[in-house]
Formats: sequence, structure tokens, C-alpha cells
Amino acid sequence: MSTVPLVSNALRRLEGKVALITGGASGIGEATARLFSEHGAQVVIADIQDDKGHSICKELQKSSSSYVRCDVTKEEDIENAVNTTVFKYGKLDIMFNNAGISGVNKTKILENKLSEFEDVIKVNLTGVFLGTKHASRVMIPARRGSIINTASVCGSIGGVAPHAYTSAKHAVVGLMRNTAIELGRFGIRVNCVSPYIVATPLVKKYFKLDDDDDVLDVYSNLKGANLVPKDVAEAALYLGSDESKYVSGHNLVIDGGFTVVNNGFC
Ligand code: NAD
Repeated sequence: MSTVPLVSNALRRLEGKVALITGGASGIGEATARLFSEHGAQVVIADIQDDKGHSICKELQKSSSSYVRCDVTKEEDIENAVNTTVFKYGKLDIMFNNAGISGVNKTKILENKLSEFEDVIKVNLTGVFLGTKHASRVMIPARRGSIINTASVCGSIGGVAPHAYTSAKHAVVGLMRNTAIELGRFGIRVNCVSPYIVATPLVKKYFKLDDDDDVLDVYSNLKGANLVPKDVAEAALYLGSDESKYVSGHNLVIDGGFTVVNNGFC
């Protein structure tokens, strides 16, 4: 695999930065790990898919990426992922709290089991809380950092996803706003990226599509969006770079205008 950077040095927007990406072994997280690495960042992928995580790191420049097993619902795992990052690369500049699950495809409150609701809250909300907490632990003394949380259009509107997912994503936006206010005085910015439907394994699983089905074919005409993981990675790149140095407390919606035009209705 070539080690020649795809982006010329002058344009490498994360040169010298260290990023930790939860859910970095697939979909949006994987695309972000690849893009951040192309832009000169040292990247740590934190996930529960060990084989995929290791193989992505092998493809990226060896010296600039590592995999750490981390279940974001476990505080000791997040603590370890942050500590490993700082131990290996000396600091943590960008924390991308991105790991997430869709939960079961049940939209009626009476169909929802408590355990199914709690599973989604644990990964999609508690995981972001723990990631923010432990990133802050090392970013506060450093007096700098960018924390980026993956929310969703379901963090702003209802009626698109099941209750647990919508609840968790709304709460992620709320947590981002609170922590942006609290951490701003330490030079730490906190923002969200909020995509509409993106062609990833999460979506395929949720809609019970076969691996061969093209998510874009199935949903793009119907819903009017053609998002691929890199579209979200580009937004994370902006929020992680110094180009956004005055942007904090912002929920960056990436939906081609879906939530404005349709006001939430599919
Ligand atoms: P994906 O399934 O491709 O990737 C999610 C990753 O998170 C996987 O690698 C998975 O192993 C990891 N993960 C799951 N549970 C974990 C845990 N407990 N600890 C650590 N890692 C865990 O899905 P994706 O679409 O790339 O999702 C990434 C984020 O984007 C999620 O937060 C999701 O809610 C959000 N999102 C996705 C869409 C979409 O349409 N795909 C839209 C809006 C928001």
C-alpha cells in the first residue's frame, strides 16, 4: 500500500494533530479515520470490531494510526482509549464521539421493550457522555481540543427513527450545548455533525437490506439525499481543523436541506 500522502503537505489540514475516533472501524467513522489520516493526523480507531479496526490501521500509514478495543458503554474502556492515545502520541486534539447503533426497527411505543430502549441510549448517549468526559480530562490541562459528536437529523426532528434513537440524538445535541459552554473557557470546542441517511452498514442492518442492495438506490429517490460517509467526514474535518477555531456549540446538519424542506416528514 502506498505511503504517499493523497493530499499535498500544504493542504494537510490536520498536520500534527492527534484524533481518537470511536466507531472508527466502519461507515462514517472509517471514512473519517481515512480522511483525517490523509490530512496528516495521527489517528486512533476505537471500536469493538477488532479485525476491521486493525485492517484499516494497516492500510493507513503505520506510524500514524492505531487500533484500540473500546466498548463506549464501558467507562474503563473509554478511559483506556484516551490514555492509550496520549501514551502513544503525547496528546489528544480531536475526540470524535461517533460510535452508534440504530436499535431495532420498531416505531410504536407499545412495541418497545425497556431493554431495547436502554441498549440504544447506552451506546448513542452514554458513550458520548463518557467520551466527552475522558477527552476533557486530558484536554482541560492542555487548554485546547475539539470534541465532535455524531448526532443525526433525528437530534432535531421527530418522526424519522424509533423513540430511543431520536431521544438519544436529541440528548447528544443537548450535551454538546452544555459542554460547549462549560469547556469553552479552557479552549475546548464542542460541536455535532448531524447527517441524514448515509449509506453505511448501520442503515443496511436497520432496513434489513442485503449486502448487495445499494442503500443509495433504495433510498435516494425516495428521500432526496445521496449522502455517503465521506460527506460527513468532510464536516468532521472542518470541525477538527483550526479553520473552525471560533465554531463551538454548533450542530452542523448535513442533509441536503431535508429538514428545512420537509420539516421532518419522510
Ligand atoms: P456503522 O454501523 O457503519 O458504524 C458504527 C460503528 O460503531 C461500527 O464500527 C460499530 O462496531 C461501532 N460500535 C457500535 N457499538 C459500539 C460500542 N458499544 N462501542 C464501540 N463501538 C461501537 O454506522 P454509521 O452509520 O457509520 O454510524 C456512525 C454514527 O453515525 C452513529 O452514531 C449513527 O447513529 C450516526 N448516524 C448515522 C446515519 C446513517 O444514516 N448511517 C445517520 C445519522 C447519524
